[in-house]
Amino acid sequence: MDFPERKMSATLFEEAKKYFPGGVNSPVRAFKSVEGPPLFIKHGSGCYITCEDDHRYIDFCASWGPLILGHNDPEVREAIHHTVDQGTSFGAPTRLGNELGALILKHHRYLDQIRFVSSGTEAVMSAIRLARGVTGKTKIIKFEGCYHGHVDSLLVKAGSGLVTFGVSSSAGVPPSFVAETIVLPLDNEEILEKTLKAHQDVAAIIIEPVPANNGLLVQRPEYLKTMRDLCTKHGVLLIFDEVISGFRIGFEGAAGHYDIQPDILTFGKIIGGGLPVGAFGASRQIMQHISPEGNVYQAGTLSANPVAMAAGHATLRKVLTTGFYSDLNIKTEQFVNYLNGYIESRAYPMHIVQLGSIFWMKFSKEVIRRADQIDSEGMQYFKKIHLSLLRNEVYLGPSGYEVGFISHAHDEKTLEIAAGKIKKAIDLCF
Ligand SMILES: *Cc1c(COP(=O)(O)O)cnc(C)c1O
Repeated sequence: MDFPERKMSATLFEEAKKYFPGGVNSPVRAFKSVEGPPLFIKHGSGCYITCEDDHRYIDFCASWGPLILGHNDPEVREAIHHTVDQGTSFGAPTRLGNELGALILKHHRYLDQIRFVSSGTEAVMSAIRLARGVTGKTKIIKFEGCYHGHVDSLLVKAGSGLVTFGVSSSAGVPPSFVAETIVLPLDNEEILEKTLKAHQDVAAIIIEPVPANNGLLVQRPEYLKTMRDLCTKHGVLLIFDEVISGFRIGFEGAAGHYDIQPDILTFGKIIGGGLPVGAFGASRQIMQHISPEGNVYQAGTLSANPVAMAAGHATLRKVLTTGFYSDLNIKTEQFVNYLNGYIESRAYPMHIVQLGSIFWMKFSKEVIRRADQIDSEGMQYFKKIHLSLLRNEVYLGPSGYEVGFISHAHDEKTLEIAAGKIKKAIDLCF
């Protein structure tokens, strides 16, 4: 296939392959699951991104979630400019760190204390160590279909049975690390209870309470509540990995949405307003185990970097304005309902799932709550939709397992235009 509209991107991609494995610095960017070379982006503004071939796309990837205000929000940009004028990094405490910490803790009922790190992966890695340090136990339960960054012991997938010790999903992860991780299917209270009864050495359960890295696998609230109760009963810490859901489906993320108090929460993406920030937080009692107060070591040269703190603060200040989340979520719901109405009217074998401002196209009419219910055949449809949309200047994340995001900057007129293009792309599939 020929991609004349991506000529410059293709040239840059060929050059990038000399420098970076696969031409990229994070694998999904390579467009392996969709057609053509990846777009090289040079500019973003509001809900649009512009590629090196000078096409402007309506963007539903939003840098994989961080940009809840859209690209290049004026207040975030101003905050960054203002801060950068004072210097970029001190490796010492700053007032800006206090300000972001205070803002988050004041408006998040499920946290007493927080520590900033530089990515979601780092946040999860630290949370796992903290859980092990606090409980003195070693094993971690995770769920098939949840992604927690590229932490060794969590880069595991389920084996063939229902309850399995993980099988590494990456080379370079020692079997002994993987043996510390138990992988369970989502949406099954019985298996969870059995596993907790059978293993006394579980330190923590980690879950994406809104699994959004392998489709959007919205869980039953009762399931999450039972999980909370079982953790309490068995002395196991519950970690909500809210790197995607935090500050996305509401300021208090999934904890607030389901009103469940996890023991430890992890954050990333939105918390840094487009700059590299992650964080983990918990009750005062749990957080006092972290060094220098306690004996769980954790550190970072660029942690709480002032420029990143300023971007996070400008972003979170804005999402706290009255009506921010209800407007965003209603706008997304209307967009998705409109498209689902069209899909229904044509009896196409697909459906768009939505929660808050997250959406996902699934090529099935069934309710999907577990990873194994996703039919990989459906990805052929996604590939066609993705290509057609790029040609019509709509940018979706380059994989059918990835979700889409709507930002504050997606106005109704633009969403209407996007919906028209998406309808056409879907028509071409069936
Ligand atoms: C994105 C993500 C991570 C990893 O964050 P990085 O900043 O990419 O390291 C971890 N957990 C969840 C739920 C995520 O969505």
